[in-house]
Amino acid sequence: MGYVVKSCTKFAISFLLMSFTLNVNSYEFSGRKWVGGKATIYTSIPGISDSGIAWNTALLNAALEWDQKTAFNFTILPIDRDPCVADGLNSIKFTSDLCGQRFNDATLAVTVLKYKEQELGPDAISEADIFVRDDISFDIFDGDLIQAGATVPRVDFKRTILHELGHVIGLDHEESKAAIMQPKISDIFSLQPDDIVGVNKLYTGTSNCKVKELNIGLTLESLNLPDCTVKDLTLGGSDDSFIDLYRFKISAPSIMDFAINSTELESVLIIADTDLNYIAVDSDTSDGCNAVLKAEVSAGDYYLMVNTFDKQIKQQCELVGQYELTANYVSESPIGLNLQANADNIGLNSKFFGSITADKGETYGNLFSPKDSLNISASIMINQSHRGEDGFIVVAAVIDDFIMLLNEKGQFVEFSPTASSIIPAVEKKLAEVEDIEIASNLVAEDFNIQTITVNFFVGYGLTDDWDRIYTHSLPLNLTISSGSQTN
Ligand SMILES: [Zn+2]
Repeated sequence: MGYVVKSCTKFAISFLLMSFTLNVNSYEFSGRKWVGGKATIYTSIPGISDSGIAWNTALLNAALEWDQKTAFNFTILPIDRDPCVADGLNSIKFTSDLCGQRFNDATLAVTVLKYKEQELGPDAISEADIFVRDDISFDIFDGDLIQAGATVPRVDFKRTILHELGHVIGLDHEESKAAIMQPKISDIFSLQPDDIVGVNKLYTGTSNCKVKELNIGLTLESLNLPDCTVKDLTLGGSDDSFIDLYRFKISAPSIMDFAINSTELESVLIIADTDLNYIAVDSDTSDGCNAVLKAEVSAGDYYLMVNTFDKQIKQQCELVGQYELTANYVSESPIGLNLQANADNIGLNSKFFGSITADKGETYGNLFSPKDSLNISASIMINQSHRGEDGFIVVAAVIDDFIMLLNEKGQFVEFSPTASSIIPAVEKKLAEVEDIEIASNLVAEDFNIQTITVNFFVGYGLTDDWDRIYTHSLPLNLTISSGSQTN
């Protein structure tokens, strides 16, 4: 937990500041920010300024400007809260002091931020309170601080709040460029490009990293250049260890079971949601270079992160290197085939589902024992433009580099993509949904199989375009292992 006070000094003759625009420094931040890029502020300031605009209107408009022009989202709730109470709620209030401490004479307003530690990167902001001095004669107006004919600068409440909200979001002072985040109040009364670019940079870290779709089953990968680093992802801090991001989506509560096997990479496994709330972590270094992580997660979109440390822990495990990632799951519903279309299918919107169950659909998964009696099926929601057309369904089982296709007799036969032509499982007029039974009551042990990994793919094609198969990119994985328990 950290505790930092930002104070903002009063006035400046704005043309002095405006003349130093050659300096190339731009938006400033430490990387400390809100999880999920959003904050709710409780504030209700009764009354109306001399110009006839309500204080609440100016507050709302200031929050709305950040909300509409940047990647950050503010919600304003018209409820009064005491900013001196550490209640995890964010507030704005006119006050005579800082919870008992005097304001600095040159201060208009102060934003107090509280932080909480994060698994990766800089601390997150967990609470923000804005204290506005109640002995300043604020008004609300746009434009220059000194009006034509006048000699004394006036103090605009709205741009003061706009500036303080920038601190709430996580911006520091900008010394050299036109910005609402300049340390002194000036003729600038709205967000400048530098402010907007700064916030968007701070809150879009995942776009710095290439995100791969998670394969259920086995993935061979490595951490090394040009992978993105924790610093690229979290924007701030000093952690420049490499990180791989895998996205996965589940539609019902599931137990996810991940393992990294590596002889060279000191590995760390992390599950996070898409707001980068870190849900589960294995950073244990006792098991060779390996990592294991099992977690129960609810329906939603997630990242699995494969990371390492920023400093080497032990001699035999490096901070770069190859790894084997295995991903297994047990769920109340099929996890899907990630429904990612392959290149031929982009824009066509056909959807692919697959399921493997050993208990007649009570649970689904990918890891089973040789004794389990398995039902394996898939369904395809055929693209609207293909429904009613003459077509065919294809089912492939891939074991290492060996491909087999299901024929019309329900048998898997060897297939060579170069030597043979496609073998359909069935030829028919395509319906809206095609349900495909791949295997029923299949017991691996009956075939003397104790250990095997099979990746199934389903697809369809049209009779007048035999060479084009519409299919999915991620396999329906089946892993049989004699060490595994029945669900
Ligand atoms: Zn400030």
